[in-house]
Amino acid sequence: MQQNGNLARHIGGAGWNQIVRRLRDKCKWHRRTLVIADKWFPSSQRCSECGHVDGKKSLDVRDWTCDECGTCHDRDINAAKNLSRVGQTRIQAPGDLGKPDAFEVVGSGR
Ligand SMILES: [Zn+2]
Repeated sequence: MQQNGNLARHIGGAGWNQIVRRLRDKCKWHRRTLVIADKWFPSSQRCSECGHVDGKKSLDVRDWTCDECGTCHDRDINAAKNLSRVGQTRIQAPGDLGKPDAFEVVGSGR
């Protein structure tokens, strides 16, 4: 998100590091697990149905169709599905998703 100039200004203005720090504190306090995706994880580019990585898209592309399986995606819903699935998998099987440093798992709510 911080690669985009407009989004970076808004996120930076909100104090991204402060948000992350507060999330960590809240998760620790409530005994929850926080999984932080690496900024390079292609959540908007990966098809949540078949896993095909379709390539970079400008922010004005809100819907796209996977070249491999033909599934039509809303950009944000697809990204949310990818992040949710990968986060759950990262918690349950930390070594199963490629680069071990692609995600940061903080705390343990289990
Ligand atoms: Zn697909």
